[in-house]
Amino acid sequence: MFKGILITKDDAGYKAALQTIDPTVLPEGDVTVQVEWSTLNYKDGLAITGKSPVVRRFPMVPGIDFAGTVTESTNPAWKTGDKVILNGWGVGETHCGGLAEVARVKGQWLVPLPKSFTTRQAMAIGTAGYTAMLCVLALEKHGIKPQDGEILVTGANGGVGSVAIALLAKLGYSVVASTGRLHEDEFLKSLGANLVIDRAELSAPGKAIGKERWAGVIDTVGSHTLANACATTKYRGAVAACGLAGGMDFPSNVAPFILRGVTLYGIDSVMAPLSVRQEAWQRLARDLDPTKLDAMTREIGLSEVIVMGAELLEGKVRGRVVVDVNRD
Ligand code: NDP
Repeated sequence: MFKGILITKDDAGYKAALQTIDPTVLPEGDVTVQVEWSTLNYKDGLAITGKSPVVRRFPMVPGIDFAGTVTESTNPAWKTGDKVILNGWGVGETHCGGLAEVARVKGQWLVPLPKSFTTRQAMAIGTAGYTAMLCVLALEKHGIKPQDGEILVTGANGGVGSVAIALLAKLGYSVVASTGRLHEDEFLKSLGANLVIDRAELSAPGKAIGKERWAGVIDTVGSHTLANACATTKYRGAVAACGLAGGMDFPSNVAPFILRGVTLYGIDSVMAPLSVRQEAWQRLARDLDPTKLDAMTREIGLSEVIVMGAELLEGKVRGRVVVDVNRD
């Protein structure tokens, strides 16, 4: 028996609770991991509150990320004692996830813990941070250089936004952070933002094409914010779209793409192939300042997960949250 968060759905309704879990709940898999740390991402908030139907099998242990030590393996790639990370692959949605002391998964989903990170640091990064790196890589591969101009980061105080700012600043880019929490100006500047703007400047319906401003954009918000970001991206610039915190719609037209040659990159972390994950984790090890990571991270135990999951969806959580799954 082990402790963890379990989501159930029956005649009594949809419920997430901290409880003692019977190992028979764990799905099939060739690697068992003693989880040390997990984390809370936007999707975990959706799963825990039931606000969106991200959980598609019950009972379910939520948690799209975990880091820990292999305790059993029939997969030749892994042996007892290996330190591993898992991000995505439907874990916490269709396959029991990381917000528990034990997880059982397919070995092919695991990535070795980079030597420069502890399991706690890897989860302070989590899917949010690894997605931020995928966005930065998309802009870099597009050829955007620091001298090309400002990079806009939306949802700046969120997990993806905070890590993206720290990464871009380290790489020498000039970062404009868009936020609904202007009182966090000092925090965002400490991560490396050069300028902080009110997200209201981007969230109202706008023109399909406007004055050119951004060399590149990392958007976690979607909807009008993404449309306005595309409309104001410079000629041959690029937008990396990864999120929907403001809505799933994209109320725009083709003007920025056909008149300005703007490129819109879709960023998916969940099913990204292993080579893409490895590159992202290697680059995080090189380019994410651990003191900035510490500054944006808050630690909780399992008993705080349910309340914090709801707060995350309300936009009340700043930066990243790590979960010590071995304490209540
Ligand atoms: P967080 O909840 O940590 O951050 C989201 C941020 O978005 C908030 O902090 C807030 O920032 C801003 N925000 C919230 N609500 C609104 C709104 N209604 N309008 C405008 N801005 C809003 O989430 P994450 O950073 O973990 O994730 C961000 C998004 O990226 C989510 O939609 C998530 O699902 C998605 N995502 C996608 C992945 C992929 O693989 N494509 C992987 C990881 C995340 P502020 O207070 O600064 O305005």
